[in-house]
Amino acid sequence: MNLSFLEEKIAELKEAGVYRKLPVLEGPNEAEIILNGQRVINLSSNNYLGFANHPKLKEAAIEAVEKYGVGAGAVRTIVGNMDLHEELEKLLAQFKREEAVMVFQSGFNCNAGTIQAIVERGDLIVSDELNHASIIDGCRLSSADKTIYKHCDMEDLERVLQENREKYRNVLIITDGVFSMDGDIAPLPEIVKLAEKYNALTYVDDAHGSGVLGESGRGTVDHFNLHGKVDFTIGTLSKAIGVIGGYVAGSEVMKDWLLHRGRPLLFSTSLPPAAVAPIIVAIKELMRTTEYTERLWDNARYFKAGLQELGFDLGKSQTPITPVIIGNEAKTMEFSRKLLEKGVFVSGIVFPTVPRGTGRVRCMVTAGHTKEQLDKAIAVFKEVGHQMGII
Ligand code: PMP
Repeated sequence: MNLSFLEEKIAELKEAGVYRKLPVLEGPNEAEIILNGQRVINLSSNNYLGFANHPKLKEAAIEAVEKYGVGAGAVRTIVGNMDLHEELEKLLAQFKREEAVMVFQSGFNCNAGTIQAIVERGDLIVSDELNHASIIDGCRLSSADKTIYKHCDMEDLERVLQENREKYRNVLIITDGVFSMDGDIAPLPEIVKLAEKYNALTYVDDAHGSGVLGESGRGTVDHFNLHGKVDFTIGTLSKAIGVIGGYVAGSEVMKDWLLHRGRPLLFSTSLPPAAVAPIIVAIKELMRTTEYTERLWDNARYFKAGLQELGFDLGKSQTPITPVIIGNEAKTMEFSRKLLEKGVFVSGIVFPTVPRGTGRVRCMVTAGHTKEQLDKAIAVFKEVGHQMGII
C-alpha cells in the first residue's frame, strides 16, 4: 500500500511548524510532573480538582478491582450493567438535581451517542459555531438538518430560529456550557428564553463546567439556577472528576430512550468497575465540601491576575481555562516550546482545534497548584513573553 499521500500531509505540517510528537508522562498527572524526563509545572491538565491522584479515589479503585475484577465484561444492555453503574447514575442525578442520568464511556461518545438518538430527519440542530468537536461529530452522525449560529450571539440565534422553526418538527439548540478553548460561559438564560419562545429543545455540553461552576461544581445549569429548564446536560467524568466517562442528565424518558437507541451503550463495553467506584467517591466529596472548587477558583483568579498585569491577552475567559492568545500558529508553538525549556508545560493550540490566526497556549489552572508553582510559571511567562516580543 502506498501511503505517500500521508507522508505529503505530514511534510506540510512540518513546513507549517505545527508538527508534534506525543509528550510522555512518567507518574501521575498533577500540578508538577515528569514529562519526557524533565520535571515541569503542568498547566495543561483537565484535572481541575486534583482528583486524578486523590488517595480516597485510588483506594476505591483498588477495592473495586478486588470485588469486581478489572472489566465490566459486556455492553450495558447485555450483562455489563453492575450495581456500581446504577449507584453512580442515581448519585449523579441527585448531584445534578435532575430526574435521571445516563452514563457513557466518555464525554466524546456521550455526545456522539445522544445527539443522534434524539434528533432525526425532519428535525433541525442549531449549534454554536465554537462547539466542541464531539458535538460536531454527534451532529454529523444524526440525519437531522444542521445549522450554526455565531458564537454566543443571541441575535443570530434568534434569526436562525425565526427563519427555520416552522419548517421542522423538533429544533435542538446545542451549546457548550464553558467553551473549552476560550474559557467563556454560554449565555444560558438567554438561550433558554429563546428556546421557550420558539418551542425548541436545549442541549448543553458542560464538560468544562462540571466540577468547576455552580455550587460545589454542579455545573453551568446550576450556576445560572436553570434546573429543569435545560433538556439535556452533558458532563464529563474525565476532567474535574479525574477518572473517565461522560453522562447526560435530564428526564427519565430521555434515559429510557437512550437505553434503546444510544449506540455507544448498545455496542461498546461499559465503564470498568475501577473507574466507576472512584467516580462515586469524587461526587460524594463534592457533595460533602466546597473546599476543592474554592481552591480551584482562588488559584485561577491569582494566576489570571498575574498574567493580566504583565499585559498578556487572555481573550474572553471567565473560568479557570486561561488562553494566552498569540495569533500566528508557528509563533504559538515556539512560545509553548520555550516555556517548556524553562520548566513550564502549556500546550500550544492551533488550527484545526481553533480558527486559523487565533493560536494560543491554553493554561489550565487547578486546585492542586501551589502559589509558589503559579508564581514560578508567571515569572517564566514574563521572561519568554519579553524575549519573543509578545508583551
Ligand atoms: N466536550 C467538551 C466541551 C470537551 O472539552 C471534551 C474533552 N476535550 C469532551 C466533550 C470529551 O470529553 P471526554 O474527554 O470525556 O471524552
